Amino acid sequence: MLHKKQIEQWVYRFGYDTDYSNGHPSILGNKGYGLAQMSSLGFPIPPGFTIITDGCRDYYAKGQTIAQPIWDQVVAEIQLLEKETGKHFGGGPFPLLLALRSGAKSSMPGMMDTLLNLGLNDETVQLLGHATQDFRFAYDSYRRFIEMYGHIIMGIPHHLFTAVLDGIKQQDNLRHQEGLSLNALHTVIDNYKKIIWTHTGTTYPQNVFEQLRKTIAAIFASWNGARAVTYRSLNHIDDQDGTAVTIQSMVFGNRGTDSLTGVLFTRNPSTGERSLFGEYLINAQGEELVSGLTTPWPITKQGIPSIQQADHALEEKYPLIFSQLSNLAIELENYFREMQDIEYTVEQGKLWLLQTRNGKRSAKAAVKIAIDMMQEGKIDAKEVLKRIDCNHIERLLHPTLDESQTIEVLTQGLPAAPGVASGVIVFSPEEVAAISKTESVLLVRPETTPDDIGSMAMAAGILTTKGGMTAHAAVVARGMGKPCVCGAHDITIDRQNKWLLIGQTKIPVGSWLTINGTTGQVIKGKVATIRQKPFPEFITFMQLVDKLKRMEVRANAETVQDGAVGRSFGMAGIGLCRTEHMFFHPDKMCLFRKMILTFSKTSRIDFLTKLMPMQKRDFKALFQMLDGLPITIRLLDPPLHEFLPSHPKDLADLALQIDYPLSEVEKRIELLSEVNPMLGHRGARLAITFPEIYVMQLQALFQSALEVEKVALEIMLPLVFDAKEVIFLKNIIEEVHQKIAPHIVYKLGVMIELPRAALQAATIAPLVDFFSVGTNDLTQTTFGISRDDGVKFLEDYQQKGLLQADPFVTIDQEGVGALIQMAVTNGRSTNPRLKVGICGEHGGDPASIQFFESIGLDYVSTSPYRVPIAKLAAAKANLL
Ligand code: ADP
Ligand code: MG
Ligand code: MG
Repeated sequence: MLHKKQIEQWVYRFGYDTDYSNGHPSILGNKGYGLAQMSSLGFPIPPGFTIITDGCRDYYAKGQTIAQPIWDQVVAEIQLLEKETGKHFGGGPFPLLLALRSGAKSSMPGMMDTLLNLGLNDETVQLLGHATQDFRFAYDSYRRFIEMYGHIIMGIPHHLFTAVLDGIKQQDNLRHQEGLSLNALHTVIDNYKKIIWTHTGTTYPQNVFEQLRKTIAAIFASWNGARAVTYRSLNHIDDQDGTAVTIQSMVFGNRGTDSLTGVLFTRNPSTGERSLFGEYLINAQGEELVSGLTTPWPITKQGIPSIQQADHALEEKYPLIFSQLSNLAIELENYFREMQDIEYTVEQGKLWLLQTRNGKRSAKAAVKIAIDMMQEGKIDAKEVLKRIDCNHIERLLHPTLDESQTIEVLTQGLPAAPGVASGVIVFSPEEVAAISKTESVLLVRPETTPDDIGSMAMAAGILTTKGGMTAHAAVVARGMGKPCVCGAHDITIDRQNKWLLIGQTKIPVGSWLTINGTTGQVIKGKVATIRQKPFPEFITFMQLVDKLKRMEVRANAETVQDGAVGRSFGMAGIGLCRTEHMFFHPDKMCLFRKMILTFSKTSRIDFLTKLMPMQKRDFKALFQMLDGLPITIRLLDPPLHEFLPSHPKDLADLALQIDYPLSEVEKRIELLSEVNPMLGHRGARLAITFPEIYVMQLQALFQSALEVEKVALEIMLPLVFDAKEVIFLKNIIEEVHQKIAPHIVYKLGVMIELPRAALQAATIAPLVDFFSVGTNDLTQTTFGISRDDGVKFLEDYQQKGLLQADPFVTIDQEGVGALIQMAVTNGRSTNPRLKVGICGEHGGDPASIQFFESIGLDYVSTSPYRVPIAKLAAAKANLL
């Protein structure tokens, strides 16, 4: 049983002259914490208080009720707030209106609820009109309150309200509700009330304390709302964290043309560029902006594509506000030493800050910002590494548009989240779920709502026709690393006819479309992509990583192309060259199959002699590409079934291809067939029976080594299980070596991929220079689970909580890991200079790499594109 501490203080104040700020994001939530910090820095914050996250846990513990002590403290705080602001909650002369805001320890933008203008009812709206001498403003605020309360607390679909508003706007021929007349607002409110009545048979509370209590409960309840739950599972956030509730006096961005609301990032969240980036709406409240329902103006001229519209930028239109805002923004960034995402509102010329948090950003921006901040002296190298995740690197290496092709650009939206995505277009989350199983899909929406989060995760990319760069769609997409184009106005979504209309072009649901989230282009069809070139900050970043890691990172490669990719990412050499893969070329395959199928030693040698020059050419090319970097060449390890066909039709083709009678081919395949080829006649065993196969490979190896200037040769034996077996094969190697190239130095190693080899490490180690742990086969043989068949049932183990992770993805530390550790200890006890590394999938898995670092391995080898990821994982593990 967990010990429960007695909590006395449920609420924490901010925004008063006296400094009340204390607490931590885990107590105050990210938002409450940011407000408390800004408050203690003396920034202009509307006063208020935060109910701590324990309140949320208490709410659930008490069967979803707000306990009396919490409520008492809330009421007492409201009285203080009345004193501080000179306004009255539920009364006049100036009614106090509140913003109720959610906020968990980890920021979850838009995943939970926020309700503005609370405290308005049929009476206080009148008082507000009188007090401000602005009835239009008062009723505009009331309209917003009813809409939010109806939607969030009473569960009425939002589009019903939007439809009313759109209808009135169309009548008035207005682009934006900023201009709704008082009369129009009365009509809207009347219609809103009707919607609520027909939908629920009741009305929203006129009693402001009832409004308050219900809204606090709703915010606590939104912690377990579908979208918040999905967001948490996608982002590995603890369900126990809970949300805080921040209750704050309202400031009004909808009080005329000297009022506005906006967001601001201290650096560009998409590119990482060091310039302010943000958007704003005049005479509006913030929800409008983040919901993406209206497309706002950028704050800087730089952000506006057409020069004619440059005077719409905040810096042109409201230069004073802009300069105050940029000063505060820079101060905040310096204070937190992190890129900030700031929300602000201007009420009749006075600037208020409403939120600051570490901004979500694209992978590219993450790297650029971290490196820039290090160079600005704000953070050190270790901190840079902490801020970059392995999956950031993974995304950075995602493909971009191949510029050499001609593309048909249909229209242009805002470049909201970088990257290129092609997919068939669909309009609804349900379709995404169905189709994404088999095909890549693009989700096309007017705007995405936080409810779409699950389907956004499944889609290849997101395209919206409304909304700006700071709308939820864009923020969430950047966080997920999904390409996203927002606010593509020229596109009309015609749900009825199931097509998109772009100008005169109709694009039916299910056709292919491509978005380029780096440029905002919407492109017809599917396009070719290429791998990205590293940018300067990425190179600097990888240099840091190289400096801070201990383990060596190599690549698995058998072709010059793959090897070159590995080199471009700074691999330390090739850690695994699977020679059987070098026969996948059609010409070689044919000879190779003949070699396998023949039963006479002379003809086998004959085929091998023909294969030899080909193998030699391939080795030589690899050596030249490597220019002296080491290469571990694994002698042949073909599970025979991988090289022979099984379908009758393919058999006939094979017979024709290799010029054997079909009956003969069938007979031989029958004889060669194994019940369990993975545990069959493969690896070193093949060479025990047919030494001539390895002899051919060794001849090719040593001869090609003679023909290049520099080579660091490492020869590796697969699937061994005993010292005597190693000695037998070592003698064969030495014989060829002595005959062909006695002065060429080479290292000898074995794969440790059978439990018996691990158990025999002490006797095998003195015979060799290195162990390379083949974790795929070792996992397979340790668990006794075939990696091909395990897929079917390993998931059940995970779902039933019997296995933490798929052992073929993340190393099983207790079992397979223990064997590896034993092999290292015992191997080094008889050969202190023994080098030990990993090849196999786990060599590129960050969680496994952390384990390999902890048991002191010397290197990991992984696929060429994963080299940078493995390096970062190794460096992070080394800093732990
Ligand atoms: P989110 O977690 O989605 O960012 P917020 O609680 O920050 O939700 O609220 C969304 C928006 O509501 C803010 O960006 C801001 O514009 C507006 N808002 C929040 N608090 C206030 C306030 N005290 N006065 C005026 N507007 C507010
Ligand atoms: Mg916010
Ligand atoms: Mg193997």
